[in-house]
Amino acid sequence: MAIEHIVIVGGGTAGWMAAAALSRLRKGRELAITLVESEAIGTVGVGEATIPPFVDFQRLLEIDEAEMLASVQGSFKLGIQFVNWGNVGDSYIHPFGNYGYEIDGLSFHHIWHHFKQQGDNRPIQVFNAETMAAYFGKFAKTEDVKRDDLPPINYAYHINATAYAGFLRKYAEKRGVVRQEGKIEDVKLDGETGFVSSVTLESGQKIAADFFVDCSGFRGLLIEQALETGYEEWTHWLPCNRAVALPCNRDDGSPPPPFTRATAHSAGWQWQVPLQQRNGNGHVYCDAFMEADVATDILIKNMAGKPTAEPNHLRFVTGRRKKFWNKNVVALGLAGGFMEPLESTSIHLINTGINKLIALLSLDGVNEMQAQSFNRLSAKEYERIRDFLILHYNATQRSDSEFWNYCRTMSVPDSLTEKIELFKMNGQIFREDDELFTETSWAAVMMGQGISMTGQNAMAATLDQAKTRAELDEIEKSIRFLVQHMPGHGDYLQRYCPAPA
Ligand code: FAD
Repeated sequence: MAIEHIVIVGGGTAGWMAAAALSRLRKGRELAITLVESEAIGTVGVGEATIPPFVDFQRLLEIDEAEMLASVQGSFKLGIQFVNWGNVGDSYIHPFGNYGYEIDGLSFHHIWHHFKQQGDNRPIQVFNAETMAAYFGKFAKTEDVKRDDLPPINYAYHINATAYAGFLRKYAEKRGVVRQEGKIEDVKLDGETGFVSSVTLESGQKIAADFFVDCSGFRGLLIEQALETGYEEWTHWLPCNRAVALPCNRDDGSPPPPFTRATAHSAGWQWQVPLQQRNGNGHVYCDAFMEADVATDILIKNMAGKPTAEPNHLRFVTGRRKKFWNKNVVALGLAGGFMEPLESTSIHLINTGINKLIALLSLDGVNEMQAQSFNRLSAKEYERIRDFLILHYNATQRSDSEFWNYCRTMSVPDSLTEKIELFKMNGQIFREDDELFTETSWAAVMMGQGISMTGQNAMAATLDQAKTRAELDEIEKSIRFLVQHMPGHGDYLQRYCPAPA
């Protein structure tokens, strides 16, 4: 059956990202797209830190970056600073962008390690532009620098999630998406195919469609409540199941740092996401080890200023739907699954879900092969990210609480054990199945949390030593020059995309 009408259920970040991207399919054809959302239910309203592919999503939609950032209080992000993860008092940055670059086919961390064994004491961080710029509170884009002998600068954004959904709503409505206010009370399935055929609103209005995108949040109105798809839980590996979110002022009037901060506490961790005029904060924790009021107190004590709202308490179950595409329904965002925002991956998964949906969608109808592909690729993506998140918890020396004792000693997926063991042996990291995280990402977190390479990559010693050392010197020098000449992040925002007060 041809697809003439698509209904998107939900108007949070997922719903409006899907609506904006799918609206481009309307060009030159009769395709109706309706988005149903309920103001009475509202959105989750958190989700403010992103990763670099999100920048490409804006480009794909031909969104003006400065205009978008100004309207969402946006700031730039060069990576994530992890505090207290390996041990209390430790800190490291997981940067966007690579450490150095490959030399003669060998990844940079192998070369750095080789020279370290020879007595070169420079930390690996001095070979990464994003890390150094983050430490000095600087920001510039590659095109501002106008020199191709300097390293590129990889970045993402911090955004106000509610404002961003509003921005995309305007974009999508301008391109013909129809927004329907109302609470869905009933979902009808076709008696023969089991496909979703229509949704009925509280008002009695019935909306029929050929294809549905479920962006209804944790409740999974179509994918779970109607189609009973099932959920694979990962709480034994990622035990945090609650969060309390609370924005605050920056009382000292300092400019926003160009990075997200994730500070580990005794039963979870706290995020700090600096927007232009406020910080987003939240404490993710496990309720088997901490009460809600204790988590809230810890959060308030560790914020940069006075709260600007009431604490927002959220519950979640880490995992994913057994199928993301079931019958004629694709679930995106929280309806598809959830992993805590430790590496800011949820909005990214919405983005990649939309990319896959647009690539696979045929307006001639739905077939099982599309669903199979979508589900296989999505499951792999979720699992690779899951392993990377588990690494943060498991690779710790902390023994100051029951929570950390559990995480340090828990069994982890075999895929992760293999990654850790290979890295310990000689620093080898294989990036599998187009996985999101790069060698630099894995190396940054493993080394940042105390996993060391014991042996060396056999090829490292075969490189021309003098020439390679000179190349290392050159990389360090060019990064130092670049960062010295970058403006402060606050100044950059003021000039490029100031948000109205
Ligand atoms: P929601 O925002 O919950 O939207 C659901 C929509 O469905 C709403 O419009 C609602 O009205 C509608 N709806 C539901 N039921 C009905 C009904 N019966 N009738 C009509 N409409 C209905 N992601 C990141 O990438 N970075 C982060 O830093 C980050 N931080 C996070 C922190 C926390 C604590 C949590 C919980 C999540 C975080 N995320 C983060 C994830 C991010 O918030 C979500 O991926 C994103 O907001 C998408 O949410 P959503 O649109 O799927 O759901």
